[in-house]
Amino acid sequence: MREFSIYCADLELSGEESFLAKDLPAALAKAEKVVTDLAKDADLLGRVDYTVYPSEEDPCDGEGLEIHLNPPEPTCREEEHEWVAPLKLVGGCSQNPGVYGEGPGIVAKDVCRHCGCLRIYRSHYRGSYQGPVLSDEGDLSYREDHYDPEDVERALLG
Ligand SMILES: [Zn+2]
Repeated sequence: MREFSIYCADLELSGEESFLAKDLPAALAKAEKVVTDLAKDADLLGRVDYTVYPSEEDPCDGEGLEIHLNPPEPTCREEEHEWVAPLKLVGGCSQNPGVYGEGPGIVAKDVCRHCGCLRIYRSHYRGSYQGPVLSDEGDLSYREDHYDPEDVERALLG
C-alpha cells in the first residue's frame, strides 16, 4: 500500500486528502469518488479540477484530472421533457441541427417542446456527443422558459 494525496483548489479536503491505495489506478478511482462526493456536498457545478499524487512526491508531478457536475434538470410542465432540435430555433446544419464545434469540443442545443426549456451541452472533446444520447463527459446547462412551446411546434413544422 502506498499513500496518495489529492489537491483541489475548489474544495476543502479536511482529512480526506490523503489515503492508502495499492497502486495509481486504484488511487485515481478512490480520488474521483472523494472529489465527486465533496463537490456535490459543496454544491459545485461544472468543471472541478484536481490532482492526485503519491504523498511523498511533489504535487506538480501528479495526475491532473477533472470531473464535471451537471445541474439537476428543471421540472417540465408535462411529466417529462421531450427534447427536440428544430433547425429554425437551434441553428446549425440540417444534418445535425443545434450542434456546433467550439474549440476542441462541441456545443449541442436542444429544446423541450412541452415547456420551452433550452438545454445546452458543452463537450470538451470532439466525439463525446453520441447523437441524441448525451454522454456525461461535458457540461449541461438549462434555460427555463426560453422559448414559447407554440414557437417550438411551429419551428418543428418547418
Ligand atoms: Zn419540458
